[in-house]
Amino acid sequence: MKRLIIKAVTAGALCAASMVVSAQDTKTQDTKTQDIKLWQLSSGSLTLDKGWLTAMSDVGTRIKVPVAMYVIQHPRGLLVFDTGNNVAVSDGNCANYWGEGLCGAFTAEQTRDEVIDRQLSKLGFSVDDVTHVIYSHFHLDHAGNIKLFPNAKHVVQKEELRAAWWPEKFQRAAYVLKDYDGTRDYDFIQLTGDFDLFSDGSIIVLDTKGHTQGHQSLQVNLKNTGTLLLAADAIYTSENEAGVIPGITWNTNLSMQSIDRLKQIRDATRGQIWYSHDAQQYDRHDHDRAYD
Ligand SMILES: [Zn+2]
Repeated sequence: MKRLIIKAVTAGALCAASMVVSAQDTKTQDTKTQDIKLWQLSSGSLTLDKGWLTAMSDVGTRIKVPVAMYVIQHPRGLLVFDTGNNVAVSDGNCANYWGEGLCGAFTAEQTRDEVIDRQLSKLGFSVDDVTHVIYSHFHLDHAGNIKLFPNAKHVVQKEELRAAWWPEKFQRAAYVLKDYDGTRDYDFIQLTGDFDLFSDGSIIVLDTKGHTQGHQSLQVNLKNTGTLLLAADAIYTSENEAGVIPGITWNTNLSMQSIDRLKQIRDATRGQIWYSHDAQQYDRHDHDRAYD
């Protein structure tokens, strides 16, 4: 089969990686937004000091926020983007798994039915149907349930894997090693920048480092809804988008650049940015139906 070398360009930024794709794959470009469905879900809630999300603003005020995660059905696979809090923190058992300190800082409320495996069942899928699990990063409320998907491909930035296994000391608390110990032999797609997952322009991983060393967001181009930019922790809430510096960042300067990057792509595509921990925005969305 004829092979082409394609260099992808996204909204003003040269993609870091060159990709080899088949000529046949390029034909799917015309139908790239067809038959894709997306559900937004929440792995229960966290109650935390708002100052963790908006640095130097509302410090000392505790707020309750969702823990966003997504299921995406694409003709070439079933995807999960972020996996929520570990199943072991369900039904009041937080301290037994995270320990008192973490549970005090990020009070997790999660019923067993809110864990990603049961949420998939409610949509008519099983964990074994999932072909790809994409991680924004490896913090406890995003990569908590990697072990529910031993047979999937796991899509993560190489830098994030290294940070997760040996974090900077000031970042250490949010990485729960037992979430992912024993997963080194899992099938990882280790990225070094942006990546067009199926080479059809529909599901694009975006490098948005800053919150962590290897943070990534997801651009999903839907036929009716248009472009969704699933920011994950690159933008926790609308206040961060409006300029309030996010708390708990590995690198604030890179974090602010990543916020700008997402806004530029949003403007170029006339799309929407969906935040990770914004209760108001989450409540405005419809969680009983698929966005297409
Ligand atoms: Zn988070």
